Amino acid sequence: MYTLEDLKGWERPGVWLAVVGHPVRHSISPQMHNAALGQILRRHPEYANWRYVRFEIPAKHFGEALPVFHQKRFFGLNLTIPHKVQALDLASAIDPEAALMGAVNTLVRDESGYRGYNTDGYGLRSGVYTDLGTRLQDADVVLLGAGGAARAAAIQCLHDGCRRLWIGNRSRDRLDGLLALLKRAYPEAAVSGFDLADPPGGMPESCLVINATSLGLKADDPAPIDPARFRGATSVYDMIYNPVETRLLAEARALGLRAANGLSMLVFQGARSLEIWTQQSVSVAAMETAARSALKIQST
Ligand code: NDP
Repeated sequence: MYTLEDLKGWERPGVWLAVVGHPVRHSISPQMHNAALGQILRRHPEYANWRYVRFEIPAKHFGEALPVFHQKRFFGLNLTIPHKVQALDLASAIDPEAALMGAVNTLVRDESGYRGYNTDGYGLRSGVYTDLGTRLQDADVVLLGAGGAARAAAIQCLHDGCRRLWIGNRSRDRLDGLLALLKRAYPEAAVSGFDLADPPGGMPESCLVINATSLGLKADDPAPIDPARFRGATSVYDMIYNPVETRLLAEARALGLRAANGLSMLVFQGARSLEIWTQQSVSVAAMETAARSALKIQST
């Protein structure tokens, strides 16, 4: 793992990619991306000198670090907590979908700076379809959370044409902020909000439930919603992938609902970033295998 000081002295040859965050020690992106680069290399020898590393840079130093990454010719960056929002003001251009999502997780170097993209929504859509066979298009979606991940999810659901969207959150002000933003961006869409502690009647019994709260990250966290209020045709997708089975997923499975964790979202968002950088097709399978083995090592 590298720091801003390492970056300032960076003289290593090659084409460099990196994930930048704080903390970033837990990130398994290097394992995923280097595995996929290995697959690309089999077909394209010109990728022999591409490498993906981790930089731990606090929020207050990110503005200083970005021009140094550019000067050192880092070709692509993934951004994670806490840089995804700040990058909107620092990028040379922003992809319209990333602008709507209010966050950037992928930067691509150009002559003047870095162009910003967001691949989280794509990752969610692909993960949900691959694991659960559910398309966002025409789905009734119950989205839990109103933070950064929920905002990307909500935009993706509306972009893809979900039928109705319910958003539940703990704090009302954050929920109202997200609802107002969605109303501006998608004035015709059927979107409503609710208090996570008191879900209303009237939500569909069969729907796609997406957990985008951080409730479940700790082993003893309760489920953010009782899955018993839904019926058999409901699919439950929890963006959390570590632990691999949250209380929500365990309870949903016990009720016979289809359920999946967020590993596929992580893998697909990473694959999309690498496609943007390399313009090559990327092995999702290689990334997933690397992600699973990195998580196993972390949990032992
Ligand atoms: P944010 O901090 O932006 O948002 C956190 C959300 O969780 C808010 O809605 C917050 O509600 C809610 N929350 C936190 N604690 C509680 C609690 N005790 N009870 C109820 N609600 C709570 O985080 P992100 O949006 O960036 O991330 C959310 C989750 O998604 C994380 O678990 C993260 O790991 C996961 N994620 C997974 C990805 C993947 O690739 N699989 C990608 C990105 C995120 P409030 O507004 O009331 O504080």
